[in-house]
Amino acid sequence: MALTVASSLSVEGVDWSKLDTILLDMDGTLLDLEFDNHFWGTVIPGEWGRPRGLDVKTSQETLAPLFADERGKLNWYCLDFWGRTLELDIPRIKAGYTEGIRWRPQAETFLQHLQASHLDVVMITNAHPLTLDMKAERLPMAQWFDAMISSHQYGVPKETPVFWDTLMTERPFDPQRTLFIDDSEYVLDSAEEFGIAHLLTLRQPDSSLPVRLTTRFPAILHFEEILDGLPDID
Ligand SMILES: [Mg+2]
Repeated sequence: MALTVASSLSVEGVDWSKLDTILLDMDGTLLDLEFDNHFWGTVIPGEWGRPRGLDVKTSQETLAPLFADERGKLNWYCLDFWGRTLELDIPRIKAGYTEGIRWRPQAETFLQHLQASHLDVVMITNAHPLTLDMKAERLPMAQWFDAMISSHQYGVPKETPVFWDTLMTERPFDPQRTLFIDDSEYVLDSAEEFGIAHLLTLRQPDSSLPVRLTTRFPAILHFEEILDGLPDID
């Protein structure tokens, strides 16, 4: 596919003077997706399988179709939904794994530069508010943002047009002067359809997985690639 070839090219910086707003995803963009992949891919199947006498691998295979059905929907990110469906106390289990929550390389430095800039810095995440609270408690995160928005507040995930319409109503921005960075290309598709002009993805959302060599959107490995033009920090 021609698009794949084109977007494998590296990003040649960002012209920050042409932007007023930066929208940032959390998991896989600012935070290492390894935590979530490990939690949902291994810990939860393990917890679900144990009382049923199933090993992790069997549990993973058994739950795979269920997870596949919900991908891209709000339920995918909903602790209440999975708690009910799997009959597990997800917040309690998650509370036992918080040490795995960590920044992606250079993410905090990037946020410091952004805070010193003229930009409105807004986090938009599909993470459940409980997950967001847990992560923001583990890492001092709120200090870097002008606003932090969980799509659960809108009742729809970022993958849907309604999310973007609602965001525009609640916190108006100029799509032509907005940069949105997200590791999910499905989410970026939805942002592109809405009309956001500047879109970036990440080459390695999960530090335990290989770097993505082909992406459908321009991609960076680390934030240092786009720091030029932002104010210096001490
Ligand atoms: Mg993400």
